[in-house]
Amino acid sequence: MNICVIGTGYVGLVSGVCFSEKGNNVTCVDLDVEKIKKLKNGTATIYEEGLEDLLKKNISEGRLKFTSELSECFNQSDVIFIAVGTPPKENGEADLQYIKGVAVSIGQLISSYKIIVTKSTVPVGTGSLIKQIIAEESSFNNFDVVSNPEFLREGSAIFDTMNMERAIIGTESSKAAEVLRDLHLPFTNNIVITNRETAEMIKYASNAFLATKISFINEIANLCELVGADVTKVAEGMGYDKRIGHSFLQAGIGYGGSCFPKDTSALVNIAEKAGYNFRIVKDVEKVNTDQRYKIIEKLQAAFDNDLSGKNVAVLGLAFKPNTDDMRDAPAVNIIPELIKMGCQVKAYDPVANENAKMVIPHLHTVPTVLEAIDGADALLILTDWQEFKKLDFHSIGKVMNKNVVIDGRNLYSPDDMKKAGFYYSSIGRKTIE
Ligand code: NAD
Repeated sequence: MNICVIGTGYVGLVSGVCFSEKGNNVTCVDLDVEKIKKLKNGTATIYEEGLEDLLKKNISEGRLKFTSELSECFNQSDVIFIAVGTPPKENGEADLQYIKGVAVSIGQLISSYKIIVTKSTVPVGTGSLIKQIIAEESSFNNFDVVSNPEFLREGSAIFDTMNMERAIIGTESSKAAEVLRDLHLPFTNNIVITNRETAEMIKYASNAFLATKISFINEIANLCELVGADVTKVAEGMGYDKRIGHSFLQAGIGYGGSCFPKDTSALVNIAEKAGYNFRIVKDVEKVNTDQRYKIIEKLQAAFDNDLSGKNVAVLGLAFKPNTDDMRDAPAVNIIPELIKMGCQVKAYDPVANENAKMVIPHLHTVPTVLEAIDGADALLILTDWQEFKKLDFHSIGKVMNKNVVIDGRNLYSPDDMKKAGFYYSSIGRKTIE
């Protein structure tokens, strides 16, 4: 199939690469000329395991192309995917300016049957809006607009796409549904065909549910601390119940990233517009915001509420491991607050140091764990990178100034930390003093 993917970010690039890997001819389009230049040369513009190899392979085999001009690939494409950003506005509503811009361009170019597919996460009703904009721009009306929300996770995006758990196809056109089913069958047999509004809602409902699971276990963690229970054991015990499951039950400093925060607030906004007060998700958001600052309270408790002049090593900046994405990462709130309280922060992330400096003012990053912890009064864990799980605290104790670890991701056993001689405070477990 001849495919065009508009927007070459985390979703568009990974989808384009994976569609080409399955034998389709794919052209990825982005307004960002620098990005397109790098991609044409086979350089991945985001960090995702396995991405660059597949990118280079499919370019060299002639199935994958990049351009900054939609007109260069539009006519010869059967299916046009829209994968541009839908960032949150101040009021939480999804900003549809990029989606609308793409719809106008499509309207100006369309002259033969096309299937236009929205992969971006968009409020219910956006498919109809896209249809309307195209119709306003063009008298040509032989096209279908389909909702096909994306569920890949940053950090395992290639794996998630190649081993898709389900494909959601929202359209009332049987012709478009057939084409999209064929396109997705090499990835999954779980194909749900429904109307556009339902497909758009499935994405928000899924993300809001996962966010709820995280805020729920974080509330349980906070209660565990007050009553002497251990949240990791509580989660393990709960997770064996198949109705609950183990995933998304890791207590910590809350969710971040480009999806959960914006999709939960967009869902609240969609509900408000429909005249419904979505109480659960509103509370999920509040719990998550408060949870970010728990780690600062714990650090204050370790130093009798006086953090001025303290040297703090921060390990982990990205919102989760295996990605360099800093969008709405807890570190973006936590580090400026520490600096405001008078701490000197040295931070290290295996891949996100450069991106972090663009969003955290005055951030001092270092290239290794050792340089971050050298002379530190306290060590803060913000991201659960595999590299941090293996740290040897007997050696670390020798280079730190004070043996204090505040662990926002529950990476270590309190008993081991006690043996290594550390003050150790984590989430939802006893503090070792
Ligand atoms: P992103 O910001 O990384 O990439 C969007 C790209 O679109 C940018 O490169 C931008 O230059 C380009 N763009 C904007 N307007 C354009 C236009 N008119 N023509 C061509 N290119 C244009 O965004 P992302 O993280 O890939 O997310 C895209 C969508 O997918 C969002 O709606 C998001 O909510 C959703 N989503 C994201 C993820 C994720 O993990 N990142 C997962 C599932 C769904």
